[in-house]
Order: sequence, then structure tokens, then C-alpha cells
Amino acid sequence: MEKNATPKGLKVNKGVTAPTVNPYFKRIHRRKTFSVREYVSGILKGDVALLSQAVTLIESAKPEHQQIAQQIIEKCLPHSSKSVRIGITGVPGAGKSTTIDALGMYLIRQGHKIAVLAIDPSSQRSKGSILGDKTRMESLSHEKNAFIRPSPTAGSLGGVARKTRETIILCEAAGYDTVFVETVGVGQSETAVHSMVDFFLLIQLAGTGDELQGIKRGIMEMADGIIINKADGDNVEKAGIAAANFSNALRMFPAPDSGRKPEVRTYSGYYELGIKEVLDMIREYVAFTKSNGYFYRKRIEQAKYRMYESINDLLHRLFYHHPKIAAQLPYMEQKVLNNEISPFMAARQLIDQFSDSRSDSSYNF
Ligand code: GDP
Repeated sequence: MEKNATPKGLKVNKGVTAPTVNPYFKRIHRRKTFSVREYVSGILKGDVALLSQAVTLIESAKPEHQQIAQQIIEKCLPHSSKSVRIGITGVPGAGKSTTIDALGMYLIRQGHKIAVLAIDPSSQRSKGSILGDKTRMESLSHEKNAFIRPSPTAGSLGGVARKTRETIILCEAAGYDTVFVETVGVGQSETAVHSMVDFFLLIQLAGTGDELQGIKRGIMEMADGIIINKADGDNVEKAGIAAANFSNALRMFPAPDSGRKPEVRTYSGYYELGIKEVLDMIREYVAFTKSNGYFYRKRIEQAKYRMYESINDLLHRLFYHHPKIAAQLPYMEQKVLNNEISPFMAARQLIDQFSDSRSDSSYNF
């Protein structure tokens, strides 16, 4: 326990008010663009700058960027899938960043390469801003074997999740063998993260004994493991009681498809106590599900889910970006509001117009 008296996993750096950057910098220093082949060979060599730029293309809304990004992803796909993907959820303050920092550093010391991604559909990360931002995962952020990328900026959950999934592929192709995907622990983002990882870890805190009431049953059901953080100092006993309560509660749940009941452990992310045991829990689960085939079946299921999700995503974009539909929508909406047409009929007519105009080949998206 050689650390500071006040534990701080989250350091907020002071923002800078006056511009400190040469205003002409952008004009002089245009970012070099690369060919798909250059991106791919750079990523496969583990070039972090090219990996970051490719992720920026994935996150871009520009169709020309999307086109390049999709080609890069296709070429990287055969080189991905070799990692273990770990989802981490828990309420804000539960210790997600502290825990990822501790788990990640432990793995790096064993020779692994770590990628940390996040899903936060409410994220308003200002483009390219690093000044005044929160520095999370302080140790990992200084490691050359760690790639940390904040959540893609706000958008629909489906869109944000797609970008994170695609980023996983590129990270794996770049040699990151352990990918953490963190969720903000609110809304639907847990389901999205659950659908893209091999192991879903729920971080809980010991409270006053009624901590079980606060969590949604659905999240407990999704968890492959539950860990009670901050089991240090005076909190050790309370954490133990919380762990027993969670274990009891889990007995009421039906047997999971993986064939392995989730385990519950206590640990301290900040003081790095029980970190090896948390990793052992994940490793044992991965070994077990690989031997019974569940690990691979789940990845195939996830790929199928991804295909349907992509279809929905694409149809949605094609429909709402269609000039005819975009022009008709406010008019139809008004008709529905005036009770001149039923919502179902309005939708039907719009979809008919959409399919008619799709057969006329003048429109290309
Ligand atoms: P997040 O919002 O879930 O990412 O939580 P953070 O990792 O930022 O942690 C929230 C606060 O809890 C920070 O002040 C941490 O220093 C503190 N914290 C995290 N892990 C531990 C722990 O194991 N023990 C103690 N005592 N504090 C911790």
C-alpha cells in the first residue's frame, strides 16, 4: 500500500483556456492519407499511428471514409479473432477504469498487448480534443503495449456499437490479444457490449446489504462473473458479505448456456489485491468454454447477430437518407398528426415509395 492516501483512479487534468496551438498549423500540416494496402500492412505490423487513423475512418460519418474503412476491415478480418474479448460494466464510480488499469498492467507484465475500448452512446467527446480531458487508466495510458480509445462520439447505440465492433477487428489484427470493452453502465449499452465479448464482467460495490435491489435482473443474467471491488481497509468484511449475497442470488438463476455458473470474487482494483484471482476466473471460463465449444458457438452467433444488425442499420440509413423520403416525411408526419391517415398507412406508403424509387436506378447511396 505505497500509494497516495486518497485513492484516485480518475485524474482530471486542468483545461487550457487560451489557444496554445499555432492557428496556421492545420493548413501547413495536412494529415497524410494512405492507401488501403498501406493501412492494412501498417496495422498488421502493429503500427499504432496507422491503427488510430483507421479507427478514425471507422468513426467518420463521411461516405468516402466509410468506404475505405470497410475495405480495411475486410482485409483485417482474417487476422482477427485471436484475442479474448472482455466486457466490463458497473455503475459510475464502481471502479471500472481502476480495474482495467490493474488487470491490463498485470497482463502487460506477462507479455500481453491490451486494447481498451468503450461504449457510451451519450459521449460528447469533442473531436480530437485531448486538453482538459479526463485521463483515465493512468498506468496503461503510458504503456506502449496498450491501445486506449474512448467511445465513438454520441450517436445511436447501434451505430456506436458497430464502430466499436469494427475497431475490435482492427485491434486484433494489430496484435492486441486482450480487448476490454467498457460500458458506462446505464441504459442499453450493456446488451450491446454483451453481444460483442467472450466474457462479461460485472463490477459491484459492497453497500449496506441491499445492493442486490439496485441491479437489474437482466444485467445479473448477462454476467459471466461478478467482482466486488474496494475490498480493502475497513471494507473487506462488507465486501465478503456482498459476495455471499450475490452468490446466493445467482443460485436462483437458470443454468447459463455456457454450462458454467458465474463466480463471485472480492478484490481491490486500487490496491491491486486479488487481481490474479480475477484474471484466473476469466482464464478458467475461457478454457472451459473453449473445451465445450461454447466459446466458438457464441462467436458465430455474434457474427450472425452482426449481420442482421448491419442489415437493419443499412436499411435505416438508406431509407432516411433517400431524398424523396426525406422530403415526404414532414408532410406524412403532419397528416398523421391531423388524423388524416393512420400511422401504419403512412409508413406503408413511404416504404412503397422507397421501394419504387430503389428500382429506378438513378439513386445510388
Ligand atoms: P469508474 O467510474 O467505474 O470508472 O470508477 P473509477 O475507476 O474512476 O473509480 C472511482 C473511484 O473509486 C476513484 O476515486 C478510485 O480511486 C476509487 N477506487 C477504485 N477502485 C478502488 C479500490 O479498489 N479501493 C478503493 N478504496 N477505492 C477505489
